[in-house]
This record gives sequence, structure tokens and C-alpha cells, in this order.
Amino acid sequence: MEPSDPDRESSVDPHLGEVIVPEAVLQARIAELGKEITADYEGRSPLLVGVLKGAFMFMADLARRIDLPVEFDFMAVSSYGSATKTSGVVRIVKDLDLDLSGRHVVLVEDIVDSGLTLNYLVKNLQARHPASLEVCALLLKEGRQKVEPDLRYIGFRIPDQFVVGYGLDVAERYRNLPDVVAYHGGIT
Ligand code: 5GP
Repeated sequence: MEPSDPDRESSVDPHLGEVIVPEAVLQARIAELGKEITADYEGRSPLLVGVLKGAFMFMADLARRIDLPVEFDFMAVSSYGSATKTSGVVRIVKDLDLDLSGRHVVLVEDIVDSGLTLNYLVKNLQARHPASLEVCALLLKEGRQKVEPDLRYIGFRIPDQFVVGYGLDVAERYRNLPDVVAYHGGIT
């Protein structure tokens, strides 16, 4: 990327590559997802469950596009494994505050890579007997899942590469980038 805008982190950081999903495209798609959820849950009050930290920005923007009395809860998970690979073994760092029984739950995820984290979370939430449980993932990496994950709402299918921005980090950095951007190397 040309250093045309020195104020933008993405224009000066050598680890950042091409913009995979620009801000305007993200926001337009999120508006569509919000409309879909509004129509699908008409007359109900869905409980949005965000997976911290990656989904915080998506959850905030998506919720503002849902024209229903939504409620929120968050859980934080950490997966064992290297910085860029999930092992599928997930530890709940912060559990939900609310009881899911009888609730219409929409699990809001940032990115589905192998699908192992999502698989674990869906099983874990199903065991709490919600009235319904659907998944809304902003990004789905193509060709990475052994079994097609059961996602009701998908923002974008992206190629198999490591990305940062719009909530996604490397060692807690880059979450505030407004676009989803390719990340090249330098992971500690
Ligand atoms: P999975 O279990 O599907 O392999 O991995 C899901 C989790 O790994 C995501 O919630 C996210 O925390 C992390 N992850 C997977 N791919 C990426 C990526 O391209 N960039 C970033 N920053 N995190 C990712």
C-alpha cells in the first residue's frame, strides 16, 4: 500500500497488506444482515451473544441495524494453540451473565477459520436449552472447514489468509482498523 495517508496505521505498517474488505463494503453488508435478522425475528426479542474480543465491533454495528428490542450478552474464550492456529480446545475466560433457556439466541462471531471454536461454542450454548440458536459470522475462510459449518448468517467468504482489523487482532493490535486487512508475518 502506498504511504499516501501517513495518519492511517495501514499505510505505514509493513506487516499490513491489501484491504480484504473495505469499511464501506463491511457496513453495507452489515446493514443487510441487520435487515435479515429484523425480518427473521419479527415479534421476538433475540439475545445477541458476542464472542469477545474479536466480535465487539461487528456486534456493535450489527445491533444498530436490527430494528427489534434486542438484548446483549458476551462471553470471552481463548483457544489453546499458536497465535495463528486454533487447536479446537477452547477455554471460557468469561461466561455469559444471562440464562439462555427459552431465549432466541444469535451467536455473533468475528471469523470462522477451522470452525473448531464455533463447533465448541454451539455445543456449549445448545446445552443451555435456548428456544433457538443461530450463528451470525462476519467472515468465513473458504476451504478451511472439514465440514460446512451451520451458519445462518454470513457476512463475507474470504480466501484462506490471516487478516486483522475491525475487531481482529495480532497480540491485541489492529482491532481498531476500520477495514479488514491482510496481515503478513511478524507474529510473536
Ligand atoms: P477456528 O476455531 O475457526 O479455527 O478459529 C476461530 C478463531 O481464531 C477466531 O475467533 C479468531 O479469534 C481466530 N482467527 C482465525 N482466523 C483469524 C484471522 O485471520 N485473523 C485473526 N486476527 N484471528 C483469526
